[in-house]
Amino acid sequence: MTSDVDVVVVGGGPVGLSAAIEARLAGLTVAIVEPRACAIDKACGEGLMPGAVPLLARLGVDPAGMPLRGVSYNSADRRVDHLFRSGAGRGVRRTTLHDSLSDRARELGVERAVGRVESFHQDADGVTVNGIRAGWLFGADGLHSTVRRLAGLERPMSGRRRFGLRQHFRVQPWSDLIEVHWARHAEVYVTPIADDLVGVAILGGARTDFDETIAGIAPLAACLGPAMAASNRRGAGPFRQRAARPSWGRVLLVGDASGYVDAITGEGLRLGFEQARLAVEAVLGGDPSRYDAAWKRSTRDFRALTGGLVTAATSPLRGAIVPLAATLPNLFGTVVERLAR
Ligand SMILES: Cc1cc2nc3c(=O)[nH]c(=O)nc-3n(C[C@H](O)[C@H](O)[C@H](O)COP(=O)(O)OP(=O)(O)OC[C@H]3O[C@@H](n4cnc5c(N)ncnc54)[C@H](O)[C@@H]3O)c2cc1C
Repeated sequence: MTSDVDVVVVGGGPVGLSAAIEARLAGLTVAIVEPRACAIDKACGEGLMPGAVPLLARLGVDPAGMPLRGVSYNSADRRVDHLFRSGAGRGVRRTTLHDSLSDRARELGVERAVGRVESFHQDADGVTVNGIRAGWLFGADGLHSTVRRLAGLERPMSGRRRFGLRQHFRVQPWSDLIEVHWARHAEVYVTPIADDLVGVAILGGARTDFDETIAGIAPLAACLGPAMAASNRRGAGPFRQRAARPSWGRVLLVGDASGYVDAITGEGLRLGFEQARLAVEAVLGGDPSRYDAAWKRSTRDFRALTGGLVTAATSPLRGAIVPLAATLPNLFGTVVERLAR
């Protein structure tokens, strides 16, 4: 393992790997520090929004999956569909995404160190972490980022805490839309992942019960029928995390580590890939403050629209969301497009 690189990336999830690839493609030397050496699975809806697909393609990454033609909002008695105008998204199993990104990073000569980061040192010329000396550190270590905390950028969050659960089922997908079922207290996302596989992700409060929530949505329970579970159930959260700023000197936060609102609009991966690109641009220019401004611009819709939808979803207005979207399909479509591009 080299001890001197241009960029060290802490966290080898999808955003850390994409940042490492971006940096290599820009001619920088890169090492990733990640505790897990295997294909990494994680609770996720696994829907790549249309804008994420070209961001991966420019990295030379094209993971197998199922085309996603749009989003369907469903309540007990209303339904509204929006077909993506900006091309299809893709339902991709997290382990498949990880393998594709990992293979590309290896091909480009990204170095890997297995380990968990628990401290780092920053000085005027660079950063030292787990014995690696680098000009820049990208913190891509997820929702509960250690880098964010160590950098003093962690900010407490108030308000209702929301979590996600997911599991896969061995059944032929019955739709090529991301199907969102608005249950009384939770949202259920169904994403086609392969010819014989769907992913089901449920977002809600800490006490959300997976089986009970699905059983309460008759059309979904009927589609899943007696399908066999094809993965262990996994959870993640609480979603809402905030950083005071996305950078601190030579340390730049990317992906969920830089702050997260909620999975309700499903664009965490697209945004993370975009941030990886912006972070590399900023270090090439030698000016991390450029990253702060670019990060703010790139996350504006996520913070405003996703934040607004979560506020409505956790208020007495919740029951009006699907009827309103069905009554105003153009407004619904405009919001979906802004977040999916
Ligand atoms: C239920 C649910 C549904 C979702 N649905 C969607 C969806 O449909 N579409 C979408 O785009 N997004 C979705 N998201 C969001 C998406 O999963 C995240 O935005 C995405 O995983 C962020 O990637 P990341 O690489 O930043 O973080 P992560 O995927 O969390 O990766 C972080 C990595 O850092 C490593 N790490 C952690 N701590 C350390 C440390 N101290 N030292 C070194 N390494 C460390 C971890 O091992 C991990 O590999 C969903 C999220 C949830 C929870």
